[in-house]
Amino acid sequence: MAEYRINTKCLQSGYQPANGEPRALPIIQSTTFKYESSEQMGRLFDLKEKGYFYTRLQNPTNDYVAAKIADMEGGAAGMLTASGQAATLFSIFNICSAGDHLISSSAIYGGTFNLIAVTMKRMGIEATFIDPDADAATIRAAFRPNTKLIFAETLSNPSLVVLDIEKYAQVAHEMGVPLILDNTFPTPINCRPLEFGCDIVTHSTTKYMDGHASGVGGALVDSGKFDWMAHADKFPGLCTPDESYHGVVYATTFGAGAFITKATAQLMRDLGSIQSPQNAFLLNLGLESLAVRMKRHCENAMAVAEYLEHHPKIAWINYPGLKSNRYYDLAQKYMPHGTSGVLTFGVTGGRAAATAFMDNLKMAAIATHVADARSCLLHPASTTHRQLTDEQLVACGVRPDFIRFYVGLEDVADIIADIEQALAQL
Ligand code: PLP
Repeated sequence: MAEYRINTKCLQSGYQPANGEPRALPIIQSTTFKYESSEQMGRLFDLKEKGYFYTRLQNPTNDYVAAKIADMEGGAAGMLTASGQAATLFSIFNICSAGDHLISSSAIYGGTFNLIAVTMKRMGIEATFIDPDADAATIRAAFRPNTKLIFAETLSNPSLVVLDIEKYAQVAHEMGVPLILDNTFPTPINCRPLEFGCDIVTHSTTKYMDGHASGVGGALVDSGKFDWMAHADKFPGLCTPDESYHGVVYATTFGAGAFITKATAQLMRDLGSIQSPQNAFLLNLGLESLAVRMKRHCENAMAVAEYLEHHPKIAWINYPGLKSNRYYDLAQKYMPHGTSGVLTFGVTGGRAAATAFMDNLKMAAIATHVADARSCLLHPASTTHRQLTDEQLVACGVRPDFIRFYVGLEDVADIIADIEQALAQL
């Protein structure tokens, strides 16, 4: 197939109907698949033949959508998971076991931080969190003999740090480990981390990819380029026989598909975090319009950011598309067509002014969600972090006046008018 541009891939990658087949992606709503010989079924179980036998591991609808996301990211293979959290867990747990260590950026989604710092720790996997702006020497210094990977977000939620992907990839490879990046906020429309040396990409497809707040989901994409066998001592799970699959060695048997095959055959089999085919269908609809939506989200967010930047009732604003932003240059390098529709700002007057502003809004909705088609926002100090004092909020990087605004696809004049009337009442 021709190598299409990203906007075309949104529509043409993945499901390719043959003559007379359905034009739209079919939902294969079946838990199981029929075979005429038990010998053939046996070959599927042994990973000696490709095919479907049970939807807890793999389903054709999901695989078409995963193939589309993998193609959009420029990867060798992909898979869908039930949520973004499952995608993060799989990306790490497919490499690390009890006794291993990983390095993570500290600027990551709170749920991911908790997964790594608390739950993975209970599984025996230790982590060192580093400042995402750390220089190469500091990243190198965080390595231990049992370090197996580096994890970070390309555009962090909610701090909107733009990661210097090439710097991280260079250090990771020099130290013989893969770089895993959560690319949820920019999506492959705005940033394709594999082109800058990242090895594995994760997504919460719940966000822009689905785009309509209709389905929770996640995705993993592997570049297929990391040479596991060159560091076989570090990655026994990929480089030594898997006794639960008759001694298959993923890295030598499956080449560029090793990582995703192992994640499917072992983790999906045992942890069962498959996305429902219905949700995969909805996700595919979202992907079809992703390029046009991301462009509009970014245009609208830029206009809102420019409006807020000079407003007398706005104390500060964080949007990497603004020339005044500390990540502007990195954003230009890695996300030249825009970052995302997410921006954060503070209203003069602190916590009380922030909540009054939120209550004054007529169109933008208060919601604990990011990347919806409709504008929405959240004030962490009065919702997700409401148990904390102002001092505690500052200590964990969430100022009392901190507002996260997710600029939607409405006419930007209406979004700005809504903000303007809400500010005018303060
Ligand atoms: N990664 C990022 C950047 C997120 O913002 C989120 C959720 O907000 C997740 C991962 C987790 O995704 P999910 O809610 O689909 O499990």
